[in-house]
Amino acid sequence: MIRYDFHMHSSFSGDSDTPPEQQAEEAIRLGASGICFTDHMDYDYPMIKESGTDFLFDDAEYYTRMCELRDAYKGRLEIMIGIEYGLRNEPELIGDMTAKYTRLNETYDLDFTIGSTHCLEHTDPFYAEPFWAGRTPREGLEKYFIAVAENAKNYDCYDSAGHFDYAVRYVPLSEEWRGPADYDPMIFSDIIDEYLKALIHKGKALECNTAGIKYGLGFTHPHEAVLKRYLELGGELLTIGSDGHKPEHIFYDFERTEDFLKSLGFKYYTIYRHHKPEFIRL
Ligand SMILES: [Zn+2]
Ligand SMILES: [Zn+2]
Repeated sequence: MIRYDFHMHSSFSGDSDTPPEQQAEEAIRLGASGICFTDHMDYDYPMIKESGTDFLFDDAEYYTRMCELRDAYKGRLEIMIGIEYGLRNEPELIGDMTAKYTRLNETYDLDFTIGSTHCLEHTDPFYAEPFWAGRTPREGLEKYFIAVAENAKNYDCYDSAGHFDYAVRYVPLSEEWRGPADYDPMIFSDIIDEYLKALIHKGKALECNTAGIKYGLGFTHPHEAVLKRYLELGGELLTIGSDGHKPEHIFYDFERTEDFLKSLGFKYYTIYRHHKPEFIRL
């Protein structure tokens, strides 16, 4: 049984109303050993008006509150403190973003950080306009995957690469794209290889994120084909997270995910304390 969930949100994230205590209580109810909070920090989020949030939080307040929570739950549930960093490939943002995330890593004794690509071209592919306008699904996905691969090469300030192929969720439906079943990652195998090799070379983990199942895509992020390729290339560090924003979504589908990962050939998953990986047998 996978007893650690290494990707979840609380009310410190712009898109969650769940107090962190509620996530902790649900984790205990589920028989968890530990959880890692990874609230959103997305500098320069471009769609503040549309989303109603800037996806930032007060880092000092967050760290203090998380340390209190960790101490309060000691002996009942291990609480790890993390952040999900939004990475960007626009050249003018890379320097500033690296400096900001590095400062957080140096200021706080964090356990774990995720590097995720939520935005590119100063927009968010969550919204149909402007990212998908005038592009085929393949063109849009290719742009997104190139950004993800560039971020893997350009940034070092995180431990695990979050939800590869996340943009697949938001491809607008059309004749050419009747749904996520039309997604074939192998069309992008050159970019995917570049991405996975960069992670392996830099000693970064790949995340298996079960929110794809929750969203009804029928697969985790990344898709099975990408996970298989990661193993073929010699990838060993794999973190597992639900990306739950509500108590009912933490540890989402972890039982089936364990069988699925074993069937692909994974023998271990990874948790982090103070940014140091520890392998746990599946
Ligand atoms: Zn994310
Ligand atoms: Zn997340």
